[in-house]
Amino acid sequence: MPELPEVETIRRQLAPALERRRIETVRVLDPRWSEPAPPEVIEDALRGRAIEHVGRRGKYLIASLEDDVHLVMHLRMTGNLLISADAEDPPHLRVAIELDDGRRLLFVDVRRFGTGDVLLGGDALTDYFESRLGVEPLSADFTAEALRALARGRMQPVKAFLLNQERIAGVGNIYADEALWRAKIHPLRPVGTLKPAQIQALRDGVVESLELGIDSKGASIDDYRHVDGERGSFQDRFAAYSRAGEPCFRCGAPIEKLRAAGRGTYVCPNCQRRPRVRRAAARS
Ligand SMILES: [Zn+2]
Repeated sequence: MPELPEVETIRRQLAPALERRRIETVRVLDPRWSEPAPPEVIEDALRGRAIEHVGRRGKYLIASLEDDVHLVMHLRMTGNLLISADAEDPPHLRVAIELDDGRRLLFVDVRRFGTGDVLLGGDALTDYFESRLGVEPLSADFTAEALRALARGRMQPVKAFLLNQERIAGVGNIYADEALWRAKIHPLRPVGTLKPAQIQALRDGVVESLELGIDSKGASIDDYRHVDGERGSFQDRFAAYSRAGEPCFRCGAPIEKLRAAGRGTYVCPNCQRRPRVRRAAARS
């Protein structure tokens, strides 16, 4: 599933192709994409409007149109956005947006989990994200202090905490593992027990892995492709994720795979020490 760096890479590629273009026609071929709104409502709201800005929040892409109309899209598991000069529809096409330069923005999605919502007005957009997403990790708001406030008193394992979009937006399985390896924190460690220095290291680990991911134009595993069909290269720079049995770049110990937050999770058993069961917890 694309995470923040993959979505940001797509945003950077879409922005120059879409901004200042006008939408001529919209075809929502799969009603599930815009549920509960019927396709005609989406098509009517977008048709004829110019695209002013292409933004991102967490793993969501936002096309902001004139008259304060916003199209919010999520790629989920297998969604891809392509800019196409080709008149022919590719397989698994769910939405086609025709632009005034003759090109088309295509939402292609094999497993059909991706979504599109139209929001009317800035307040509706703010409300939409307020109920879904926590702090934006590459914003100035994501400080060690902010992270400590989110973690305080919580006994949830730190990996599950990182994956919760309502706390930190945009971090998924890959970047959580990379961030925890950088911070030398075991994924099952209860987040509320992290020391101040570890909170700082975790904050830095999240930011650095996301920035490295963006720098590499994302990781291409599964179905993620760029707008132009190219692949990212962050998979060649993983330090932990998917490296089971390979040596840790810091200490040489073989990376191990375990399960945390229901997901395949990669750790260095030497750098990321498993939390000890605390006496108090063991007694009760
Ligand atoms: Zn190590």
